[in-house]
Amino acid sequence: MTAALTATCIAPFAPVSGRDLQVPLVQGGSCTYANFDYAASAPALATVTDRIAELLPFYASVHRGAGYASRISTASYEDARASVSRFVGADRDQVVVFTRNTTDSLNLLATAVPGDVVVLDVEHHANLLPWKSSRVVEAADTVTETVRRLAAELTRAPAALLAVTGASNVTGEVLPIAELAELAHSCGARILVDGAQLVPHRRVDLAASGVDYLAFSGHKLYAPFGAGVLVGRRDWLDTAEPYLAGGGAVREVALDRTEWACAPARHEAGSPNVLGAAALAAACDTLAGFDTDAAARHEEELCSRLVEGLRDIDGVELLRLWDDSSDCVGIVTFTVDGFEPGEVAAYLSAEHGIGVRDGRFCAHPLLARVGRSGGAVRASLGLGSSSDDVERLISALRYLVAGER
Ligand code: PLP
Repeated sequence: MTAALTATCIAPFAPVSGRDLQVPLVQGGSCTYANFDYAASAPALATVTDRIAELLPFYASVHRGAGYASRISTASYEDARASVSRFVGADRDQVVVFTRNTTDSLNLLATAVPGDVVVLDVEHHANLLPWKSSRVVEAADTVTETVRRLAAELTRAPAALLAVTGASNVTGEVLPIAELAELAHSCGARILVDGAQLVPHRRVDLAASGVDYLAFSGHKLYAPFGAGVLVGRRDWLDTAEPYLAGGGAVREVALDRTEWACAPARHEAGSPNVLGAAALAAACDTLAGFDTDAAARHEEELCSRLVEGLRDIDGVELLRLWDDSSDCVGIVTFTVDGFEPGEVAAYLSAEHGIGVRDGRFCAHPLLARVGRSGGAVRASLGLGSSSDDVERLISALRYLVAGER
């Protein structure tokens, strides 16, 4: 263990569920689960589970009921909207639409964009496939050159939107979103940040960074599945076709005419996921109260140790996109010579109780770009990660490569 790992890093940074989960091992017995799959879905924070338990008795439909439970539900739902808005520093012109997840948010925005969308080829499929008229820019070997290429494309022909990931779900590398926002605006475009991986690790301030639209998922932010958000400028959302047609999205309906509501109601037809929204908001409120720098330092220290440990193992190769990226969230993706990614993941789980992700991470073009179309193994960190977990993963991989399994 390196000296850089301080005592504060040894304990989990925040209480998350599943820390004491016992998992069976193939060789017999069991051990505590070591979760390295935060980038897929993060376990719920204790404050989130408390909030759900508190609200569950008030299970009732929002906005349309006068009963006590309905009023509590409505207030919780709208308070949740306000919490998310505060958490991301939205300005008065930016509206919070509750969706199912990031994918849903991006598909919703895709119905509202009045023109071309410029994207990089290294995006998650959720930020590649929904856009109806997209122009794909090939990422370069450096962030600097990649930004230059985006600038060239945005100046070459008018675009309505630049849609970029905040942090790569494969390499964890962070893009300079404030710089990209300035670039997009100077070319007459707006910017959407896919915050699925960035928001759980870094404080995003829409007003300060100039970002117009932000999408993220509750289940990656220490809340349950089924709730996500699109936060963004109201005008496109107010004039777009409603994402879903139905009750709640309208002002007035006659059999020959429908008057749709403005956003957010316009895009939230049907009975909403009140518990999901309140849980996501509880996660936002909790994270807003954290010392973000300390949390980022904790993760950085664990991540550096993991990278250092993996680099020391023969045949382990780490994936990176950019030579000059200066910021990275806690995601480390690698391959092990002589082993299929699925084999490595199955071994780590069965023999060491370690949960990682293998495959192509819904980013096939990215994996092809870095010469890993056969997939890779991803270890991702979060608030419950500890130095013990990191040492366990490094040792397990050492055993694998040394043939001592
Ligand atoms: N964008 C990125 C960068 C992601 O990592 C993911 C999920 O892994 C998504 C979008 C899609 O998120 P969801 O499955 O919650 O819609």
